[in-house]
Order: sequence, then C-alpha cells, then structure tokens
Amino acid sequence: MTQATNHYLSWIDVDNEMHSEILLPDLSKITLGRSDVAEIEVFNTSVSRLHLEFTWSEGAWYVKDLNSSFGTWIGNSKLQPDEVVKLDQDTEIRLGNLSLWYELRGEHETQEMFQTCFRPNTQNEEVEYSSEFNDFRVKLLFLLQENFGDNTLNVNLIKRIDDELHQLITAQEARLKEQRILNSISHILNRNLTLSELLKTALNLVSKVLNAARGFVVLRRLNDKDHAFFALRHFKDLSWSKDPGVKQNYSQTLVDRCFEQNKILIIGDTELNAALADINPAEAGGGRSIVVIPLVQDNEVIGVIYLDNQQLPHNFTPEQIPFLTTFSAHTSIALQNSMLYRRAITDDLTQLYTRQHVDEALSDQISQAQVTKKPLSLLILDLDHFKRINDNYGHTTGDQVLQEFSEIIKSQTRQQDVVGRFGGEEFVVLLPNTDVYAAHELAERIRLKTEGHRFIKEGQTIQVTVSIGAASFQHHCDHNALLLLENADTALYQAKAQGRNQTVRFS
Ligand code: GH3
Ligand code: MG
Ligand code: MG
Repeated sequence: MTQATNHYLSWIDVDNEMHSEILLPDLSKITLGRSDVAEIEVFNTSVSRLHLEFTWSEGAWYVKDLNSSFGTWIGNSKLQPDEVVKLDQDTEIRLGNLSLWYELRGEHETQEMFQTCFRPNTQNEEVEYSSEFNDFRVKLLFLLQENFGDNTLNVNLIKRIDDELHQLITAQEARLKEQRILNSISHILNRNLTLSELLKTALNLVSKVLNAARGFVVLRRLNDKDHAFFALRHFKDLSWSKDPGVKQNYSQTLVDRCFEQNKILIIGDTELNAALADINPAEAGGGRSIVVIPLVQDNEVIGVIYLDNQQLPHNFTPEQIPFLTTFSAHTSIALQNSMLYRRAITDDLTQLYTRQHVDEALSDQISQAQVTKKPLSLLILDLDHFKRINDNYGHTTGDQVLQEFSEIIKSQTRQQDVVGRFGGEEFVVLLPNTDVYAAHELAERIRLKTEGHRFIKEGQTIQVTVSIGAASFQHHCDHNALLLLENADTALYQAKAQGRNQTVRFS
C-alpha cells in the first residue's frame, strides 16, 4: 500500500498554540509573515510583515529571507540576503524566538491534532476566562451589587468575593489548559514513531511547555545496566560516568535518584543545593534549575527525561507535578508501544529489521522518492557458499558469522539507511538519497570489509565472502517496490554466476 506524503510547516506561537500548515507543491511560491498579505500569517513579534518566501522547485521546497528586520536562521547560520536554502526533513527555521519545523508526513496524519492548544502553566499570567466561568462571575457580581447596594462595607466585601473567584478561575483555567496540552501530547506521541523520534518529540514538547533550555532522555538497558542517551537538546557529548564523583554538565546523582525512587524531582536552584556535588556550576555548563521525570514500565523506571534551565532558578515548580505526572504516564505508554513495535520488526539473531518491515519501508521510500525526485537504491547481499560454513563448523558458528556480518553492514551504512535480514544468509540495504554509483561504492566497501574480516572460531580464521546485487529506482519508468527488488536480485544472480565475491549493478 503506498502512502502519499504531505509537506508540513509547524510552529508554536506566542500563545503557545501549536500550528501546522501544509505546504502544497502546486503553489509554486508561498510567503510567510505577520501581515495578511502573507499566505501564512504568523503572529509573533520576531516575524516581519513579509518575512520568508518558500519556493517549490524540482521536488523540493526552498526558503529565502525577504529582507526581514530580525533575520532568519537555519541551524546556526543566518540566511544571507538572496540566499536560497533547500529544506530537508526536520529542518528547523528560526525567526528570532520562533522556531518553525519543516516535516514530511504521511497523509493519514491529520492536521487537527496539531491545532489543539498548547498553553504552559500560566500561574503568574493574567488568564482569559473561558466564557462559562466569566458569565457566572458577571452574574454573581451583578446580583450581589443589586442586592447589597454600594456602601463601603459591601463594596469591599464584593471586591473580596471577586478576588477569590478570580483566583479560583485562574487555577481552574490553568488545569484545563494543562489538560488540553496533555491531550495533544498524547495524540502526537501515539503517532507511529520510532523510538528516537518518540523521545525527541516528547522532549521537545515538554521543553516548550516548561520553558526548559536544554534536555535529554537517558534509557537504562535492562539487561546490562548500561545507560544510553537519546534526543539531546542543546546538550553535547553526554556520557554515563563510572565514577559518580566526576563533575559533568548534568547531575548523574539526580538521574540515579529518579531511577531509584520513581519520582519527579525538582531542583529549584543548584547554587543552593550542596547535595548535588557532581554538577558543574551554571556558568561552567551546568544547569541552574532542573527537573527529572521518570519513564516507567511494569513499575520499574526504564528511562529519565532530564530538563534544565541554565539561567533561571526556580524555572520548574511543584505546581507542575500533576501535569508532569500525567505527561510521564502518556510518554511511558508510548515508549512501551514503541519498544514492543521495535521488537516486532527486529530479527532476533542479528537485530536487523525483518523482511516485512523492509518491505513496508521500501514502499514508503518509493512514495517519498516519487515526490522528492531524489534517488533511491537497494542492495541485496548473499553470503557465498554459506552452507559449507554450516557444514564445516556447525550451525552455531554459522549464526555467529551472520551476526558479525550484520555488524559489518551496520558499520558501513548511515543512520537513514534501512538494513534488514531477508531470511537465511540474505540481507538487504535500502539507501535513500543514493544513486546507483554511490550504492555500488558502498556495496564494494561492505564486500571488501567482509573479505578482509577475521571471522574467528577457536583460533581458526574462517574466510567469508559476499555477493551483492545493486539496483536503483528509476523515476522515468513506472517503477515499483517489486521491480526494484527483482532488479537487485537479477544483479545478485549475475554476481553469483560470474564467480561470487563481487558486486553487480543492474542495468
Ligand atoms: P551461494 O553462494 O550460492 O549463496 O551458496 P549458499 O551455500 O550460501 O546458498 P544456499 O542457499 O544453498 O545455502 C544457504 C544456507 O544458509 C542453507 C542454510 O542451512 C543456511 N542458513 C539459513 N538460515 C540460517 C541461520 O539462521 N543460521 C545458520 N547458521 N544457517 C542458516
Ligand atoms: Mg548464499
Ligand atoms: Mg541465499
């Protein structure tokens, strides 16, 4: 089943509402700005009346700054006048304090879920009353005035009642808004996200809501008690220290405590907290205020979300705990689903993707390539005379060779490549954004690595070679997944027939 892809531009505006606009390729130019002459209107003081122009050309969107007052940044570099930059998946475009994200998403993901309100805890802010509450307040005050008259005593009393009502409504409104945020967060997290997408999204959302400057997620691998860092946001090179006394830019002690106690913990001000001896002072890279949020599975903490603010003490407050508790529950469930899903699409022996998953990924990638007009290549790899290895050294050694070979493929491929085991001793690699020549080059690297690798069994070296077939998606033909696989298979068959241990490109 193929799936159409839409181009989205998403942002969170000053009122902390999340917006998402679809960029339609049949409009060849779209402007974004603060005035209604722009096609996409964004109310934010960092945005000029006409700030950006998006242009659709040859299957991709490009962006240009329209001489705006505050400028536009892509990553860390500011757009120069007349500079045109191509948007890639997940590009962040910054206009002052406003961030826009460019994303490609499947059409089944509707826009509505992003339009729900995203308002952070508004305890210190004047809140607009929802009309129900406000109607009640107006009616009550009117009745009181009508029946009590306006002598000083009564005016003071009415004022006090009004103040009480005001406080009550403010608190109530804040809870309602948190509820709305949680609803949309749970919608977003329930999209079919990979583990790292999920953690990145959860971290971004909660950081926005809580005004956190930086953050990361750390997961504990259940078997080996090892810790893995994910989704670093404005943090660099984090590691889990064996010696917890060593000072770092985050507090390992606090993370450990969160793992042990299964509790949200807030540090209002690290400068006043002598117990956190393992964190650098804020001016040397540590955080001033911190919150850690547990992610739980079967009553056990399997991960921790860490947020900090380097400048502000007391950026996180105990009033946020009910909100964070529900956020943690939503994220934990999404994490659990994502891990179950991951297990379902992973081959046990090699930890590579299963055939079924590669087939699905291939259909998706072909649809994407049709839209973006970027190249897409595929390799099928088959170990040579593998049956002999099983016969000579036993099945267990055979398995070990399969595992070591998987590592070789992984070491040579990029993050975005999809590596799968097609069954037995046959593997597949899906290479987005790669033409047949680059695919051939990569195949040769894998082949030579394999030939030179010492697959070892009790001191003996086993010689292993691999034959590889490479094929590329042809934009001009009506190409489909099946044909691409067939072509790569034909090339592989040729490689075998010509003597094995070689790569053949389908032509
Ligand atoms: P060719 O060079 O033509 O590919 O020869 P080959 O021996 O590799 O190919 P063939 O398809 O004849 O044999 C594949 C062998 O792979 C047969 C099977 O016993 C073995 N095999 C399949 N799955 C596994 C596995 O999970 N573990 C082990 N150890 N062997 C496997
Ligand atoms: Mg074989
Ligand atoms: Mg085979």
